[in-house]
Amino acid sequence: MLGKLVKKVIGSRNDRIVRQKYRIVEKINSLEPQFQSLSDDELRAKTGEFRNRLEQGETLDDLLPEAFAAVRETGRRVLNMRHFDVQLIGGMVLHDGKIAEMRTGEGKTLVATLAAYLNALPGKGVHVVTVNDYLARRDSEWMGKIYRFLGMSVGVITSDLDQKQRREAYGADITYGTNNEFGFDYLRDNMAFSKEDQVQRGHFYAIVDEVDSILIDEARTPLIISGPTEERTDLYLKMNELVPQLVRQEGDEKEGIKKPGDYTVDEKTRQVFLTERGHEKVEKLLAEHGLIKEGESLYDAANIRLLHYLNAALRARALYHRDVDYIVKDGEVVIVDEFTGRVMPGRRWSEGLHQALEAKEGVQIQQENQTLASITFQNYFRLYDKLAGMTGTADTEAFEFHQIYGLEVVVIPTHKPMVREDHSDLVYLTAREKFNAIVDDIEDCVKRGQPVLVGTTSIENSEYLSQLLQRKRIRHEVLNAKQHEREAHIIAQAGRPGAVTIATNMAGRGTDIVLGGSLEAELAAHGENIPEDVKEKIQSEWQQRHEEVVKAGGLHVIGSERHESRRVDNQLRGRSGRQGDPGSSRFYLSLEDDLLRIFASERVAALMQKLGMEEGEAIEHPWVTRAIESAQRKVEAHNFDIRKQLLEYDNVANDQRKVVYELRNELLAAEDITDILDAIRRDVISEEVDKHIPPNTFEEQWDLEGLEKALENDFGFHYPVRQMLDEHPEMQIEELKEKIIEAAEQAYREKEQQVGPEILRQFEKSVMLQILDNAWKEHLAAMDHLRQGIHLRGYAQRDPKQEYKREAFQMFSSMLENIKHETISMLSRVQVQSEEDVEAVDEQRRESAPHDVHYEHAEASAMSEEEAKALIEEGSQEAAVEQKPYIRPTRKIGRNEPCPCGSGKKYKHCHGRLT
Ligand code: ADP
Repeated sequence: MLGKLVKKVIGSRNDRIVRQKYRIVEKINSLEPQFQSLSDDELRAKTGEFRNRLEQGETLDDLLPEAFAAVRETGRRVLNMRHFDVQLIGGMVLHDGKIAEMRTGEGKTLVATLAAYLNALPGKGVHVVTVNDYLARRDSEWMGKIYRFLGMSVGVITSDLDQKQRREAYGADITYGTNNEFGFDYLRDNMAFSKEDQVQRGHFYAIVDEVDSILIDEARTPLIISGPTEERTDLYLKMNELVPQLVRQEGDEKEGIKKPGDYTVDEKTRQVFLTERGHEKVEKLLAEHGLIKEGESLYDAANIRLLHYLNAALRARALYHRDVDYIVKDGEVVIVDEFTGRVMPGRRWSEGLHQALEAKEGVQIQQENQTLASITFQNYFRLYDKLAGMTGTADTEAFEFHQIYGLEVVVIPTHKPMVREDHSDLVYLTAREKFNAIVDDIEDCVKRGQPVLVGTTSIENSEYLSQLLQRKRIRHEVLNAKQHEREAHIIAQAGRPGAVTIATNMAGRGTDIVLGGSLEAELAAHGENIPEDVKEKIQSEWQQRHEEVVKAGGLHVIGSERHESRRVDNQLRGRSGRQGDPGSSRFYLSLEDDLLRIFASERVAALMQKLGMEEGEAIEHPWVTRAIESAQRKVEAHNFDIRKQLLEYDNVANDQRKVVYELRNELLAAEDITDILDAIRRDVISEEVDKHIPPNTFEEQWDLEGLEKALENDFGFHYPVRQMLDEHPEMQIEELKEKIIEAAEQAYREKEQQVGPEILRQFEKSVMLQILDNAWKEHLAAMDHLRQGIHLRGYAQRDPKQEYKREAFQMFSSMLENIKHETISMLSRVQVQSEEDVEAVDEQRRESAPHDVHYEHAEASAMSEEEAKALIEEGSQEAAVEQKPYIRPTRKIGRNEPCPCGSGKKYKHCHGRLT
């Protein structure tokens, strides 16, 4: 209440921002006549002028009004599009490093040109990020006309480019490309053999189109480059021998333990936990098998990897059963789908589980891939000095953008008022009735010549609907976000009279639906030189079609299910009613939809029964809409939490990645790393001395022979430590240390003289890079294992996240220590004679560089089963639908068929029950 009142009096923050921008719009408008009067050459010369003024100390903010005026005038001349006032505001919001929420069809592609041009003036490169290759190419060509006219270069990164082409594209003033390409190039650059092999030139400013898809929907799946592992097959076998000696604990803490054991099993999350007793027993067994040293803990950093194998073996034994969860066929372990019972050849469980099962079944253990580099979009985009985004739907997620990325969402007013009619939801008892109603609605539209877009949440639903339409002989197109270019062409014509288009949510993104169909596409299809009369004919036909569709009510959008997130529903709705067009939307739901089944079915079903509904009838009630919205809010909040958790884990890896990449880049760029090595040598030798002469200890505890031996073996020089101390009993250890360090430096200088400084400098760099790369690769594998095994420590009431952080930090520090020690040791010991030796190391480095790498980025999936289960367990009133596990049906299940949960009951009496 109060909030509303305050808003009325002082206006919302959004209004204030927009109002401020309008003042600058006025300034840009007042510059318009002046810019219109410039010749093409004069307009083009503005870029040079702006750049000069920038050098003289003016800021981008100072230049903004003129730069925007120049881009607007160019847009008018070369694309016949003059930026609307609201588009200028969008451009300013982008320049501020914020998210511009602009509805579909408001022309975001054109808006980006303003901020991209302005921010390209300093010459550090601007990245414009699109959701697919097709749009990157289309936008860079289309908008490229503006940039090129103004004397700026434009590049586009697509998946088929080689390294040289990539470098050129990144060298341009403005570079278009997909998030995947930008992210993978970043990772590859940090695995590059030399500086010359890198392609990016920093992260100055990025504009992310469809920013909600990229930073929210896809944030949960990182980009991963992986290659073959060096996994220890023998450890899977050993652990497999060892786990049968561990006893499962019966009962649980709350109910009282029936029989104490070594591990407990959580069937729901499919995890295994060691008990205190089990922990001790495992350590004993491992020591007996010679896998750890007597007295060592399983949790010592050096034993992290063992935990991974142990965890996998335990799960394989306690949770996965042959002929239920998997079968063994032709010497392979094949997964059986939990719900459909179908076998899934070729699919493998992760986290070593599959190998552990192979060990358990005595079949050959297959090699897997390991992560060589990975980053989440969240962390990739946080690399940019300034980040901006555009989307039609960010407002519902404004809090997350702000909290995680520090990005503010500004809602930009539409160019023309919105007149779309959004009807309230219709809810049916069964999915069948729902789809029948949808077909009726479509049929009605087709008869009246109104185009329809039907959104579905899965390819299965699209196909099901398509079958129903085929039966009625209604012509339609089905899109499922697989062929971006072809789909863009279909979407461009989805606004023709009576056109029916069925699309999953992602399909045809980025192309807008013009009422009457796309005139541009039509003209383009006739080639460059269309005779005037043909052109006129096409135009008048289009005009006719356009008017027909407008009269029929514009584009009608049908949602066949509510998505988990309101934002995605808004995206679908937003395809209609663009730029003041007429249009309408309606969502059809049924109690069998996932969202309703899990969250709202009891309340809604009770209501529907009260109303005494008949076959085919629907309810339309504000109560229902509210129940659904509250369910969506709950899932949204839950998904946000998951993303936040993931980010917290990823942040640990991210900090480490930054340190290593920075060090690596420094090494790549340096001609001479003598200074770095000198400092490292001091550290390493000093450490070595401390190891044998621990500070603040008595002489009896010193191991002087050990020190002499270590210096000899590890660092290749002899130093008479004992003799020195015998001869100078008054000598302080610090002084001794200095002497030893000097001796080490002396020994190394002698080597330099033998080899010649040039060769040695090159050699040093190569050696250190090689050691760094290997250590980092091993560290990444260990971190993977750590993350997977961390919950095993839950037994001691420690917070797993804290444990993870602590452990990860320790592992990282010891990795850095190892790199230093190994580098100095290696350089002191190896004999280099000639340039060939250096080349040999380079050759090794090239060879050990990853071959056969894979690039992965799984499409962002909807809520996973585990997550849904967890959500249900949280016990929110609506969520607790008899505590049944959540099941995402992959096909339609008959009501009389056995329930796929395996209860043995009929589906209609089990998970398919309506009340
Ligand atoms: P969005 O990405 O915001 O949904 P698009 O960038 O695809 O929108 O643009 C939608 C349509 O509006 C395009 O066909 C484009 O040509 C047109 N358009 C955008 N801005 C203007 C303008 N200032 N003048 C004329 N047409 C415009």
